[in-house]
Amino acid sequence: MGTRGREIVNLDVDELLNVLRKAYSDEWLAYYQYWTGAKVAKGPMKDAVIAELELHATEELNHALLVTERIIQLGGEPVADPRDWFKLTNCAYEAPTDPFVKTLLEQNIRGEQCAISVYNDIMEMTRDKDPVTYNIALQIIEQEVEHEEDLQSLLEDFELMINAMR
Ligand code: FE
Ligand code: FE
Ligand code: MG
Repeated sequence: MGTRGREIVNLDVDELLNVLRKAYSDEWLAYYQYWTGAKVAKGPMKDAVIAELELHATEELNHALLVTERIIQLGGEPVADPRDWFKLTNCAYEAPTDPFVKTLLEQNIRGEQCAISVYNDIMEMTRDKDPVTYNIALQIIEQEVEHEEDLQSLLEDFELMINAMR
């Protein structure tokens, strides 16, 4: 923990740590949902979908890293037991039990939309009160917005292709 770094946070730090532990749990679940989705994907455009899911998986894992580093700076502990991810998550985990590319895209779009809301809330909470956490949330939300658009444009291409074949 950085003592002066923690003192300058103009918020209830324990409350902020709870919010960050929840976001951290979301990131691991998002990572695994993408990682395993990329392994099972089937259907039209599967190569393009798999490439995007694999890239997003690595980006979600990096978000988990950014959030953990901030938790540790603030004197908190990252979630030690993966079973707690399911208790803490905001965005839940949608198991890729249906490997069809359209289903995977729709599941992950819901996840991204939830993540955007989570980081938007963290930015509102920390704005002018904790610029360090604010900046981390800003870096992450930029990528979540990109993820949502990547997946929605793949889904749009998928629908155009299916319609063209009718
Ligand atoms: Fe993320
Ligand atoms: Fe994302
Ligand atoms: Mg992408």
